[in-house]
Amino acid sequence: MKVLIVGGGGREHALAWKCAQSPRVDEVLVAPGNAGTELEPGVRNVNIAATDTERLVELAKREAVELTIIGPEAPLVAGITDAFQARGLRCFGPSRLAARLEGSKAFTKDFLQRHRIPTAGYRVFNRASYDAVWLRAQKTPIVIKASGLASGKGVVIAQNLQEAESAVQEMFAGRFGEAGSEIVIEEFMQGEEASFIVMADGTQVLPLATSQDHKRLLDHDEGPNTGGMGAYSPAPVITSAVHARVMREVIDPTIRGLREDGSPFTGFLYAGLMVGDDGTVKVVEFNCRLGDPETQPILARLRSDLTVLCDAAIDGNLAQVEAEWDSRVALGVVLAAAGYPEQVRSGDAIDGLEAAALLPGKVFHAGTRRADAQCVTSGGRVLCAVGLGNHISDARRDAYALVSCLHYDGMSYRHDIGYRAIARE
Ligand code: AMP
Repeated sequence: MKVLIVGGGGREHALAWKCAQSPRVDEVLVAPGNAGTELEPGVRNVNIAATDTERLVELAKREAVELTIIGPEAPLVAGITDAFQARGLRCFGPSRLAARLEGSKAFTKDFLQRHRIPTAGYRVFNRASYDAVWLRAQKTPIVIKASGLASGKGVVIAQNLQEAESAVQEMFAGRFGEAGSEIVIEEFMQGEEASFIVMADGTQVLPLATSQDHKRLLDHDEGPNTGGMGAYSPAPVITSAVHARVMREVIDPTIRGLREDGSPFTGFLYAGLMVGDDGTVKVVEFNCRLGDPETQPILARLRSDLTVLCDAAIDGNLAQVEAEWDSRVALGVVLAAAGYPEQVRSGDAIDGLEAAALLPGKVFHAGTRRADAQCVTSGGRVLCAVGLGNHISDARRDAYALVSCLHYDGMSYRHDIGYRAIARE
């Protein structure tokens, strides 16, 4: 069969790589893909943007694609799954209504409250309803969020009320465009963050291996927030007791609540969690798709055929399948481009990919493209080097061995990926 992966980042390279290993799969198409998917055996790039739903539907029809997996949130929030299904095409991802869980933080906070799922206390405002007097009575730090999609950048953790007020005003002034016309102001939560990703078929869920990422740009969790500078799986903070609690208090009521509300969720559901010292769990956010870079280490550990799992979910049969995992730890280090996450420079030539390919582990591409015979940077996060090992320190050693092969002007990365898990080891 043919599989189509929609998107062009590191997550999509990992999805394409994984699907291409399936004995059921003849060819994987990736739209638009990157230089890594272009070189991957059994994979073909198609130059169509991830948000060009009409042309993607035509492509899937023309190529007789039997399974489409959507990587990024923007097409999901815009309703790509509904468009595929309306044309009789099998597509793994939530409907437009279910994807509101990521598309609107205000919707999600109200949903969580209505279904009594633990999360930070909050209020939602637009310009007309905004109450500056209320804000001045709040404790700091306090968190200000643009409600709509802002590529992970629409969150400000204000250390004092002045910072909070100016974040509110910037959002209403259009710093994040339409995404900030409505804002959520919420309590600051203490604890350790972890990602909990499941596959859902509307009713049943299949939890994927746990993971944890590093959002800040610099070592020791300093510098600005990014899309993610590295990740590893499993996440030791998710003990079996915490796992059971997340399923009971977060995942099950979310899937049940969405079904009851008439928007059942089929797809990858990503819960960003804050785990307190006492083992309590609160929802920070939901994503309606796999995380990037968490996907790269998670799929590096998946032994089962991903296409079988996706098909089972589309057919409402998730209860019939199990996922088998490599018992080793996987750790991925993201290599970023000059200027990331602000003004990103593109076009720097990447050296060392051939040398890295001879080592254990895998280098997934993200913001890369081919220019003549050379692979060059073309996005903020450029590559993700994943190592596997019996212990997290072994996985880290292999990942950084890959990194040491690679070079381009302006390359930056964190040197401490996995430090929390190593401290627990
Ligand atoms: P979000 O886009 O909602 O996931 O927020 C981005 C990042 O901001 C999260 O991964 C957290 O690191 C941080 N964050 C968001 N909300 C809170 C909160 N209420 N308390 C503490 N940190 C938060």
